[in-house]
Amino acid sequence: MYIKSLLSKYHQLFATKHLESLHLRNCSISTMTSLENVISGWNDVKQKIKVVSQKRTQNLPEPRLVAVSKTKPIEHIIGIYQKGQRHFGENYVQELLTKSFDVEILKQCPDIKWHFIGHIQRNKVSKILSVPGLDIIETVDNEKLADAINVAWKKQNNKNPLKIMVQVNTSREEEKNGVLPDDVVKLCKYIIENCENLKFIGLMTIGRFGYDCSLGPNPDFLTLVECKNKVSFDLQLNSSNIELSMGMSDDFEHAIECGSTNVRVGSNIFGYRPKKERSQK
Ligand SMILES: *Cc1c(COP(=O)(O)O)cnc(C)c1O
Repeated sequence: MYIKSLLSKYHQLFATKHLESLHLRNCSISTMTSLENVISGWNDVKQKIKVVSQKRTQNLPEPRLVAVSKTKPIEHIIGIYQKGQRHFGENYVQELLTKSFDVEILKQCPDIKWHFIGHIQRNKVSKILSVPGLDIIETVDNEKLADAINVAWKKQNNKNPLKIMVQVNTSREEEKNGVLPDDVVKLCKYIIENCENLKFIGLMTIGRFGYDCSLGPNPDFLTLVECKNKVSFDLQLNSSNIELSMGMSDDFEHAIECGSTNVRVGSNIFGYRPKKERSQK
């Protein structure tokens, strides 16, 4: 037991320390997943998304697949980009910078669309905004952060507003980021009224880990749908203009049944990832 935890600590350390120099570059050493496996995982996820979304009764478009590539090598990103994948998600700032500025990515993936899905410290905002191909920041959860992004986006002379989602802490867990469900309308209203360089496009949640879908609809997903209905009603927005980013590897099909328009899938595509440390949220 002790040896096992020591090994896993070592593995985590190794993964973080050598991420840029080795892990992102040389997949044969640090992960067993081959590009072939990644492509087949990607096809499988695409197929499942298609099947479940066709069964939906509401008139919703097929959800967007965000391939969450954190800790995974650049070769695999390029590999599925070449098969047609465009949206990629990252949740560590430095890793997103390294990958998005990588010469091969810039050369071979000119139309890549990055989603930032991690916790944002305000002093990192301008770094995130410098990312070429930045498409959506999914994790805005307070007014000060929205203000900071709003100001910084304008400073960079961008013509179009930046798309953002509001992250909601639907499970009300202390260690999770996100605005509480009761405060969602207030934050969305603030952004719409005060942040002219931001375009509010939807709500995002991570939710409680390990929910057993056989017990019925995931309460986190239901809560996010309720938040959407409330935002739509209170702020008089057309609800088809409010996206829901919910669903990961374990539950993306279930999330689609509940109304997701944007699923964030990592390990089902790119393979196993060592469990993150508690502090990384
Ligand atoms: C890592 C991560 C994902 C993907 O998780 P998987 O279980 O590997 O699919 C999705 N969303 C966020 C915010 C993440 O940090």
